[in-house]
Amino acid sequence: MAMTDTSDRATANGKLADISIRTNELDWVHFGGGIEFKLLRVSPENGTWAVLFNCPAGSSFAAHRHFGAGEYLVLSGLMELRGGEEAGGVTARAGDYGYEANSVYHYKTNFPEQTVLYFQNHGPIGFIDEEDNVVGVLDWEAVLEVWNAGGNPRD
Ligand code: ZN
Repeated sequence: MAMTDTSDRATANGKLADISIRTNELDWVHFGGGIEFKLLRVSPENGTWAVLFNCPAGSSFAAHRHFGAGEYLVLSGLMELRGGEEAGGVTARAGDYGYEANSVYHYKTNFPEQTVLYFQNHGPIGFIDEEDNVVGVLDWEAVLEVWNAGGNPRD
């Protein structure tokens, strides 16, 4: 059946919400450990959350395990995963994209220089102690809560 009546398309598109954000017009919000972020999107449907991170030189993400795959694109600076290249890990530079598999452990993620990256995780991240016990969970609701509060008051 030919569908030449475009009013059906308008109806279908009307149910879908495109998102467009001028990130340069958003203020950075304190995330933790000196790191700032801008919230781009959360998805209550599947738990995905997408942010820009602004990480000062010498900052790092605490040890964690992914309970959802992650993806990043480094916009400027340098990120060392699992100790960086010299330790057998990954050193991601401006323009580098990476995929972090669901269930992977990341013990060290360091930012030797000021770094901005796009990051999205398709589910929660669990922060872990030295014996890999989950001691905190960062999911889409927690990210949204920190954003709505204007920053993380715990740090
Ligand atoms: Zn990670």
